[in-house]
Amino acid sequence: MIGLGAMGSRIARRLLDAGHDVVVWNRTPSKAEGFPQVAASPVEAARDTDAVITMVANPQALREVTKDLAPKTLIEMSTVGPAAIHELAAALPEETELLDAPVLGSRAEAEAGTLHIFVGGPAELYEQWEPLLAPLGTPHHVGELGAGAAAKLVANSTLFGALGVLAEALRLAARLGLSRDAAFEVLAATPIAAQAERRRETIEANDFPPRFPLSLAHKDAELVTAAAPELRLAEAARSWLADADEASWGERDYSALLAWVLDTPDQEQDQRDHENEEQPVVDRNSAYQREDDQQQH
Ligand code: NAP
Repeated sequence: MIGLGAMGSRIARRLLDAGHDVVVWNRTPSKAEGFPQVAASPVEAARDTDAVITMVANPQALREVTKDLAPKTLIEMSTVGPAAIHELAAALPEETELLDAPVLGSRAEAEAGTLHIFVGGPAELYEQWEPLLAPLGTPHHVGELGAGAAAKLVANSTLFGALGVLAEALRLAARLGLSRDAAFEVLAATPIAAQAERRRETIEANDFPPRFPLSLAHKDAELVTAAAPELRLAEAARSWLADADEASWGERDYSALLAWVLDTPDQEQDQRDHENEEQPVVDRNSAYQREDDQQQH
């Protein structure tokens, strides 16, 4: 098991609990303390093992830990997108069998063995390794190599999209002077009712328990928009996440995006509001007329 971060450490523990003989390696050695077999390098961890599992932060980390690896089988579980999986396949020796198997679910699900695991690769290889993945959650064979990574991006695009739609609806409500209670009453009758209901308490308490760091969500949103630059809603979600991450919100839970969207001042709009308050109504109308005229040109 290569990579003992929040997810990799929990996955390694479950594999140990399931009776597997697990050798671990992590870049920061202290995270490997307490594991029975600790290797000094990824290559050493891979030596004499049936399968290597990688669970690291991003494509660059994956490149670094798999450099010089030549395992019999590699099961790649990080969220890196299909392009990184194909790059990895090209870099590995031809004899290495590769599955991409990223996961949906967070620390609690990793600990409880209730992750969804989206697996890409040949059907026979999937069947061979499905029993190893089973203690971690529910494996889904979704297609050829790269399909698992693709499935994970599809799943995550909905997480950020739904959160962004909720955040913007609440911001719109606030701008239009609707009370928060009224806004939630309205949202309960809309397609995002479940999302609103689920997030209401955390929004009201302004407390976002750490599950999935915003920096990782930002990384995933970048992978989504890089894979499909024509997506407009995904790009909007990406830009909100990028701004929050750049403002050092990366270690907060990704759902703190709700607070970010709700509370980030919009200086241009505030300025417009201020100007409108100062202008007599008749002037405001002629200002709109001027804007219309300009737009027609
Ligand atoms: P994490 O706690 O930040 O751990 C990241 C791991 O990657 C650590 O083992 C880290 O090593 C290693 N790493 C980072 N850069 C490296 C490099 N250049 N060379 C070698 N190792 C490097 O992240 P995580 O939450 O476990 O997430 C791991 C993957 O699962 C990510 O792709 C993430 O998107 C995905 N995922 C996460 C969640 C979640 O809720 N957290 C849910 C689903 C999927 P060090 O310990 O030395 O830093």
